[in-house]
Amino acid sequence: MLRVHKIKLNPNQAQAIYFAKSYGVARHAYNWALAEWKRQYEAGEKPNEAALRKQYNSIKPVEFPWALEVTKCAPQQAIKNAGTAYKNFFDRIKKGKKGAEVGYPKFKRKGVHDSFRADNGPATKGANAAPTDGKKIKLPIIGWIWMREEVRFSGTIQSTTVSRMADGWYISVLVETEDRLQAKANHGAVGVDLGLKRFATLSTGEFIVGPKPHRALGKRLRRLNQSLSRKTQGSANFRKAKTKLSNLHKRIADIRQDAVHKLSHRLSTEFSIIGIEDLNVKGMSRNGTLGRSVGDAGMRMFRTQIEYKATMTGAFLYTHPRFAPSTKVCSGCGQLHDMPLGKEWLRCDCGLNIDRDLNAAVILKTAASSAVAASGETGSGVALAA
Ligand SMILES: [Zn+2]
Repeated sequence: MLRVHKIKLNPNQAQAIYFAKSYGVARHAYNWALAEWKRQYEAGEKPNEAALRKQYNSIKPVEFPWALEVTKCAPQQAIKNAGTAYKNFFDRIKKGKKGAEVGYPKFKRKGVHDSFRADNGPATKGANAAPTDGKKIKLPIIGWIWMREEVRFSGTIQSTTVSRMADGWYISVLVETEDRLQAKANHGAVGVDLGLKRFATLSTGEFIVGPKPHRALGKRLRRLNQSLSRKTQGSANFRKAKTKLSNLHKRIADIRQDAVHKLSHRLSTEFSIIGIEDLNVKGMSRNGTLGRSVGDAGMRMFRTQIEYKATMTGAFLYTHPRFAPSTKVCSGCGQLHDMPLGKEWLRCDCGLNIDRDLNAAVILKTAASSAVAASGETGSGVALAA
């Protein structure tokens, strides 16, 4: 099966310059392909991406000599992507979409989804497209680059895509692997409370702080929202601000996705019983628009990923129903408390004085364990999900 692992890179200065150059070539090739496609189509020809790639290669040495300084796959893949954009466009028309829904392929601008194919493809079928020694990965022209972590799947690397995110350069490694997720440890049951201020709270007492760039970008998001609201709707400045805003939304989503992936991977490989809250329980609107857009999307993503991964490792996944509020019950004695938003600590007559989210996580853990007991399963190697 094909799996993707996105890893942060530590490029040196020359490598970072090469990345920026490669992306420039990829963006140019993509835009060239869109324009050429349109021109040929209007001239009554039948453009296709394979022919466009050939055409690009034949004029490259003379018309775009600077493109020779980067891997040939960067422009080639970009033209393939332009072909895909057109294919999707025609599919949408076939489905009867009209107007804005049709979404005619758009030119790429600098700073928006900066990414490019970074390898030269496998030398022979079944060979690695990019060798790795665990800590580093080797790309054409610039050689070995330090990675922040090892590729988590064993198998053949099919392709690599380098992209720029808010906090630096990342490489997405596509691996053909036989690996299924496997349980690495069994720490029993865990309850997980997802939040905004703190990314996750585990019943073990571990607090997982959200990715930092996400919080920094949150501030920028609020500023951009305000700036948008001051502009005249439909004006050029309004459109500009709107584009900036949607780009930032995408970057935040990318960072959050990475954090969600790591957490769901870790939980499903280290615990055999996992208790989470059902979606939309906690009124993520706590932090206004930012909370709703970022929080709800993150929670849905986490839910999808943990369900999928728990099935692979055989962990028992329990979702706590909405009508049983985990935040209001004392995890020590079961007494109900009034817990308005913003109240950070639960102080109970039984003597328990506990962080609000940690209390919720403990409740989720207990509920998950009871659900396993009720179903007669042991929780280890259980393949069903609640
Ligand atoms: Zn109590």
